Amino acid sequence: MIFSKAFDLHPGVVDKTGPKTSETHWSMNTGIAALVAGSGKAVNIPDANADSRFNPEADVESGFKTNSILCMPIFDTQDKIVGVAQLLNKNNGKPFTEGDENLFEAFAIFCGLGIHNVLMYERACKLLAKQTVAMEVLSYHASAQPAETDKIMSLETPSADHFKLYTFEFNDLELTDDETVLASIRMMLELDFLNAVHTKRETLCRWLLSVKKNYRPVIYHNWRHAFNVAQSMFTMLTTGNMRKFFSDLEVFALLVACYCHDLDHRGTNNAFQTKTESPLAQLYGTSTMEHHHFDHCIMILNSEGNNIFEGLSSDDYRFTIKILEHAILSTDLALYFQKRGSFEKMVHSNAVNWSQDSNRELLRAMMMTACDVAAITKPWEIQRQVAELVASEFFEQGDMERYQLHSEPIPMMDRKKKDELPKMQVGFIDFICMPVYKLFYDLEPCLKPLYDGCVDNKNNWQALADKSNEKEMKELRTTSTNKDKNEANNNKRNSATHKVNELITSERKISETKDLTSRANNNRDKKSKTCCIL
Ligand SMILES: [Zn+2]
Repeated sequence: MIFSKAFDLHPGVVDKTGPKTSETHWSMNTGIAALVAGSGKAVNIPDANADSRFNPEADVESGFKTNSILCMPIFDTQDKIVGVAQLLNKNNGKPFTEGDENLFEAFAIFCGLGIHNVLMYERACKLLAKQTVAMEVLSYHASAQPAETDKIMSLETPSADHFKLYTFEFNDLELTDDETVLASIRMMLELDFLNAVHTKRETLCRWLLSVKKNYRPVIYHNWRHAFNVAQSMFTMLTTGNMRKFFSDLEVFALLVACYCHDLDHRGTNNAFQTKTESPLAQLYGTSTMEHHHFDHCIMILNSEGNNIFEGLSSDDYRFTIKILEHAILSTDLALYFQKRGSFEKMVHSNAVNWSQDSNRELLRAMMMTACDVAAITKPWEIQRQVAELVASEFFEQGDMERYQLHSEPIPMMDRKKKDELPKMQVGFIDFICMPVYKLFYDLEPCLKPLYDGCVDNKNNWQALADKSNEKEMKELRTTSTNKDKNEANNNKRNSATHKVNELITSERKISETKDLTSRANNNRDKKSKTCCIL
């Protein structure tokens, strides 16, 4: 189709008595428009009847008398012809001038933009409709099945003491999956969640099961991690005496944020999303995965029967979701580094105004990080197992980078450097964990166990790192001694000239060994900037 609509400018605009064109006139007289559409070049005809390209039959049919014609191609933003615009019969009876051509070209450019926008809008509407359908399907499958909810509803919820929920040493490894859900319900009940947000126990059960279902079975960033982060938050708020800083809605938003903060994690980090140019990275330039976790959290809340906040007024609902979003985004460690300095100043200032939103916001963000990496504060056996899990997940990403993307992974994700885990853990503790737990201890003495746990684990990892360094150095020394012995035996057998050569070689080897030994010492002394993220 060359053009979709003809606008008659005569009636009421230029000449009220002038003849009207008709659709037939336009469809019969398509020669010139087709020519312009094909060539992309404007055509200016001073006298149509004297031009062989014009079809006079169109005028006979419609009674319209064509004199002059100015026809212009319309381009889209990619310089593709999307239409033609045509002017007939300049009103003074004269041919169209160069000035008219320039003016009409500008008009054609606007037409092009208009057509482009309409097409984009139509496409956007279709995509939106497709997305809505996809979301409906996703939301249905993301939601827990009624039988699962019924099962949890039928079980008795054991006490907080039974699960040791108020302790910083809490260990989820002793619990079954169902028990993790029951322990979650218990935490919510302890905080009086159901009464405060006016929601039903059934909705809470369904929501928890849906959240659990939406964690992938990756090695570390799975449901168990989310559950542990939530328990750490619960303990910080209660045993750690942090609840006094927040309103009920803030407390619930924080706990919900912990459960949702790694939803649909794929076992790969933000840098991997950028490297692979994943659709998620295209969607969100920064804090890629964190934005996705929040979106997923909203999708679950919007799924039928899963909105645990449905009983809130619209203002409270908006407020809670805002806190929730900020808390989830705060788990991006890049943001933690940006905020840590301000947090330090705040903690060490004598007069902090806790009623100020920005201060509480910073506190909430730091608490999210403290809970996210809280495995580093756990008793040594738990910490060690968790560190192995994190390392395994990282190595899988490292393998993908090496074998699929053909790029060398960073040491933390390099399976070949797995023996350096203790050293990397020490770096992780020094660089990320210790500062945050020290600040929380300064802020609230009840949080001392987190700091102490972190110190203990640093000592444990340091001891392992030292042991591994000693082993490395011993191996180096043994290799060097054996070589020296061999060289001595050879020397006995060889001539005087060879003896001189061997001596030179031996000297060089001793000096190389010294180099290696000093490098090993440097490595031990140097505080590694490489970090593990728990
Ligand atoms: Zn996490």
